[in-house]
Amino acid sequence: MSKEQNDIGFICPSCDSKKYSMHGFIDRSNFQPLAFLSDNPWVAVLEAIICASCHKTIPGHLACRYGEISFEQAKKEWEKSYKNYVANIKLKEIYRGNT
Ligand SMILES: [Zn+2]
Repeated sequence: MSKEQNDIGFICPSCDSKKYSMHGFIDRSNFQPLAFLSDNPWVAVLEAIICASCHKTIPGHLACRYGEISFEQAKKEWEKSYKNYVANIKLKEIYRGNT
């Protein structure tokens, strides 16, 4: 694993991998304003990371556990709110892992 990948503290809440293939900001240029009225949890997510092992798109705040949440809390939140939603988002790349 490269040092840069370690820096963001990624752990996949879906498969526990510490490797990711891409880290990016979510591109809202084609975003539908009405999407904010939906119950899709992705509308509030700004940043996402793609897991190199399971290839799922993980919200940044869960993948890197912002707000000092525990990995267990991140896993629960992933299972409860995000896992069953198709993210359907485009990412503006910040960093691409070499996996
Ligand atoms: Zn994964």
